[in-house]
Amino acid sequence: MMLIDSHAHLEMPDFKKDLDEVIQRAKDSGVAYIFTVGTEEKDWGRALEIADAHSSVFAILGVHPHNAKEIDDQTYPNLKRLCQKEKVKAYGEIGLDFFRNLSPREVQLKGFGEQIGLAKELGLPIVVHDREAHQETLEILRSERAEECGGMIHCFSGDYKMAKECLDMGFYISVSGAISFKNAEGLKGVIGRLPLESLVVETDAPFLAPVPFRGKRNEPSYVRYSAKIVAEVKKVSFEKVTEVTTQNALRVFRLKI
Ligand SMILES: [Zn+2]
Ligand SMILES: [Zn+2]
Repeated sequence: MMLIDSHAHLEMPDFKKDLDEVIQRAKDSGVAYIFTVGTEEKDWGRALEIADAHSSVFAILGVHPHNAKEIDDQTYPNLKRLCQKEKVKAYGEIGLDFFRNLSPREVQLKGFGEQIGLAKELGLPIVVHDREAHQETLEILRSERAEECGGMIHCFSGDYKMAKECLDMGFYISVSGAISFKNAEGLKGVIGRLPLESLVVETDAPFLAPVPFRGKRNEPSYVRYSAKIVAEVKKVSFEKVTEVTTQNALRVFRLKI
């Protein structure tokens, strides 16, 4: 049995004290690889350092929509340099967050478009963050021709129509622990209608701990809880979900194992 946590934030201070144990626990639970996402300049170095120190960890670097207002002249040249490193397997997370609006919307829209261009230049798939900005996210993916780089929509929260459009552009849909929450009936319905061949699983740790850990710190070993619910809604075995989502994640990140 092998799982991949396609999206976590191991560089966050929440893991400072026991990172090695967290990574070991993930391995012991069948999580072969963890993709850790450095979302802002101060975290990129740490994400790379963790990936370099652990054979099971890879890095994803970019500017999160929350931090779009911090983009300056140095940001993209820095990212261009860091993303050449061998352990970087995708560009992100980039996108729109119209729920928290920590950067002005116009600034988020500009940063998202520019970074799709940069990812294409770097030849990397993108990891998209979309919170309460489904329509705008789709519009930018289309206008920037994001099908040329592909990638995944992380912590997917849109409807079936949106999922279908993302699949048509070559994206995978990522299922987080949010699918275990009480209010997830709509999301379960969407995931149930999508082919297993289009799904990957993630934790978004330290956030979004699944039931029965809701409210606590999330960690990559819990990615099996998302996989279990995918198995229930798809009416297939847990083993089948681990097998297919692992192959899907390897394909997204173009990893040959
Ligand atoms: Zn996100
Ligand atoms: Zn994230």
